[in-house]
Amino acid sequence: MITPYVIIQKKRDGETLPGNVIETFIKGYVAGSIPDYQMAAFLMAVYFQGMDAVETATLTKVMMDSGDKIDPEELGHPTVDKHSTGGVGDKISIILAPLAAAAGCRVPMMSGRGLGHTGGTLDKLESIPGFNTNLEKDEFIRLVDTAGLGMIGQTARMVPADKQMYALRDVTATIDCIPLIAASIMSKKVAAGPQNLVLDVKVGRGAFMKDIDNARKLARAMVDIGTAHNRNVEAILTDMNTQPLGCAVGNSLEIIESAEVLQGRGPDDIRELTLVLTASMLVMAGIAPDTHAARKQLETLLDNGKAYEKFLEMVRVQDGDPETVKPPYALPLSKKTLDITADTAGYISGIDPMSIGLTSVQIGAGRIRQEDDVDPGVGFVLKKRTGDAVKPGDVLAIAYIRDDLTAGQIQTVKSDFEFSPQPVKIPPLILDRVSPR
Ligand code: URA
Repeated sequence: MITPYVIIQKKRDGETLPGNVIETFIKGYVAGSIPDYQMAAFLMAVYFQGMDAVETATLTKVMMDSGDKIDPEELGHPTVDKHSTGGVGDKISIILAPLAAAAGCRVPMMSGRGLGHTGGTLDKLESIPGFNTNLEKDEFIRLVDTAGLGMIGQTARMVPADKQMYALRDVTATIDCIPLIAASIMSKKVAAGPQNLVLDVKVGRGAFMKDIDNARKLARAMVDIGTAHNRNVEAILTDMNTQPLGCAVGNSLEIIESAEVLQGRGPDDIRELTLVLTASMLVMAGIAPDTHAARKQLETLLDNGKAYEKFLEMVRVQDGDPETVKPPYALPLSKKTLDITADTAGYISGIDPMSIGLTSVQIGAGRIRQEDDVDPGVGFVLKKRTGDAVKPGDVLAIAYIRDDLTAGQIQTVKSDFEFSPQPVKIPPLILDRVSPR
């Protein structure tokens, strides 16, 4: 029998691993016969040597089969889901899920927590008092059946291989590896059962994929895996280079911004990206004949309050308090704020999303250690955005804080706003699409 040592050695030396060898290794790890240190070495070998499409597909399948799965038939029709590879200020799922449900889709959405400099949908939802993301499979299926949607965390019994490998990757610098990301995301998405999936692959300095070529490779790997598992999948590559998405960064602040967009208001980029991603879902699910018709339908649902009603229903059925997400909003929000002002005049040419994300984590909106609690009430609201003209003294951002910001933190946020003396053209938000071959 091939030993874990030999499997690691083969991958270290750049060999392609047969399916049964990958299966032995992953199953051994989940069963506890292969320790963390050997899995860590294996992951680092994959990081440097990569995996081809067949190896990645096998890895995904073995990870997916490591726990409970939901049969698409259990969820009814048509089911849709969306996943983002992670950005700053990315609250799209919170708007998109009720919007798609209001349009007649079923939305079984399993989301994650904040990771590194990026926020997580679960952390944001949990800033709503009482909101329960911790549901087991049967309850989740019941919610999707009755309310049309459910937004939960990965249950302990679903894709345990990913849970364990992910925690190890997080502390061994092996997150940003295309086959590992593709297998991690797609094992969870296929296990959760939706038939139609839109992937938002973020590109740029605020994303895990810094350049468009790598983002295309990741998108292609995920679309191919989904297709091999008989799912309809489309990936949309979107900008995470120019600035955070929307104006709010921080948990309660992002729920408020989401609720605003669901009531037909809010920042244009959030509304636009939500419409693009949801329209693509509706076409895949056969609810609309084309994206133009889908968009018209979705705009109406945002503007006539139906999507917002669905959001309030979701909050209620998941034990949250719907009154807290109605204007003027009663979510936990720090009373202590600080205006961060401009020292110079000019046009804003960019707002460093990575740096804003990292400062948000430092002030409590995310986790520095895995066991940290997030503070729902802290974060930033950007008052100026790329393209805006600014003069000295204008408020660039409002910080919602628990403790005073240090002089260094204030300076960092100021310099996250990049200036140009000339007017600035805002780069496109949608960069590319990757469809099944
Ligand atoms: N999100 C995931 O679920 N897995 C990864 O590997 C990266 C982002």
